[in-house]
Amino acid sequence: MIHGEIHQNVRQYINGRWETSATTGVSANPSDTSEVVAEYARADRRQVESAIRAAADAFSHWSHSTPQRRADVLDRIGTELLARKDELGLLLAREVGKTLPEAVAEAARAGQVFKFFAGEALRGGGENMASLRAGVQVDVTREPVGVAGLITPWNSPLTVPATKIAPALAHGNCVVFKPAELVPACGWALAEIISRAALPAGVFNLVMGSGREAGQALVDSPLVDALSFTGSARNGERILQAAAARRAKVQLEMGGKNALVVLADADIDHAVDCAVQGAYFSNGQRCTASSRLIVEAAVHDAFVSRLRERLKALKIGHALERGVDVGPLVDEERLARSLAWVGIAREEGAEHVWGGEPLKRATAGHYMSPALFLAQPGHRIAREQIFGPLACVLRAADYDEALALCNDTPSGLSAGICTNSLKHAMHFRRHAEVGMTMVNLPTAGVDFHAPFGGRKGSGYGPREQGRHAAEFYTTVKTGYMLA
Ligand code: NAD
Repeated sequence: MIHGEIHQNVRQYINGRWETSATTGVSANPSDTSEVVAEYARADRRQVESAIRAAADAFSHWSHSTPQRRADVLDRIGTELLARKDELGLLLAREVGKTLPEAVAEAARAGQVFKFFAGEALRGGGENMASLRAGVQVDVTREPVGVAGLITPWNSPLTVPATKIAPALAHGNCVVFKPAELVPACGWALAEIISRAALPAGVFNLVMGSGREAGQALVDSPLVDALSFTGSARNGERILQAAAARRAKVQLEMGGKNALVVLADADIDHAVDCAVQGAYFSNGQRCTASSRLIVEAAVHDAFVSRLRERLKALKIGHALERGVDVGPLVDEERLARSLAWVGIAREEGAEHVWGGEPLKRATAGHYMSPALFLAQPGHRIAREQIFGPLACVLRAADYDEALALCNDTPSGLSAGICTNSLKHAMHFRRHAEVGMTMVNLPTAGVDFHAPFGGRKGSGYGPREQGRHAAEFYTTVKTGYMLA
């Protein structure tokens, strides 16, 4: 049994001070449920409101801080994250169940995100325009929005928060950050590093607690000017309604039903690699996971049989064990839900190819074998987000049918195609109704400096990441001056 340290001081960070709360919770290791990872304070509405007030009070000062000051703070945070990537990766692997190499890579990436936005703080700048009127000058500048409420899911507990906190601070906003309840230790570890980066009190605040109480308090507060949410479509929809009613800025990153199209001219082994990585790594618990594999009829059977062989060979086990490909699901509820999807697939007549069984390992964890089914387009497993290790194959007669199937979904986050045809690759890039396309790459796996986000039911508001983050974290001001 591999036991680690229990983090007991996981408290709220409000107005520059660490605070306990009336109630506490625990997070457990999904690879070994006998191991407690953190005991943490759970904020109530009053604490969240005090964090919001602290952020609002700090805004007038921080919003006028120099770009160099903001760059220095972000660079310092990024440097520490990178230096401690192994330790933070270990914590992440223990709390979420990602394999250690994946978890360490995520910690490093969070550091790189802060470094990138340290540069963005300096790159600001605006536009000058010729006026229509003689002697008048026009310029367009960007200003911070105000207090940003940042609400994040459990599946990427360092990079998703980094992708929101870093641009918010870089562009001069104040932050109230609420991580998901399953990952308090990761949220706290990030906040602890930020708390030592010489930010004035109130500029950055951490509140841990339930979505219903702590999250909702952020959504309802008239002092929160911008809400960035990553999570389920159901909660995103509710947040959008409430935020729109009080005219707060909203950015939603939600789920997907991402497709990987495999054409007959593709390198089939490479396509199988893309499918295994995209559909099953991290147990499919990624918003960009490929849960629909749309395969041209001529290679359908060959693809399915090679994919089945690869799934048989995947090593599922304790996230810290060397050589493990896929760890456990994050908790008992998500395991039960994924197993229930296996039952739904069978009931609706999808053809079982492999997996979908609960697995026993040396430690009690939420293990499951990766599941593969052959489905029809109308099956629920081909239409609804599963967020677990279950993918289905849909047969397409040709490229046109494959593209039509790919777009036949209410979501539109990421879509991929494996092909050696330049014509089809180019057509797919233009016609896939998604925010991100991948050619001969898995649907999951993106660069941190390029825009991230989806269309249709997968996203709302400006894109995250890179230079595009400025769209959400700043507001445009147009200035006219008679010279
Ligand atoms: P979730 O919607 O249950 O929770 C996300 C966050 O919202 C949590 O912090 C939660 O406490 C909070 N929350 C819940 N109810 C709230 C409310 N009423 N008001 C305010 N906050 C509330 O999602 P999850 O289960 O943590 O994460 C999985 C989901 O996240 C999946 O649907 C996945 O597709 C999505 N996801 C999307 C992306 C993306 O960028 N598109 C990335 C990762 C995950």
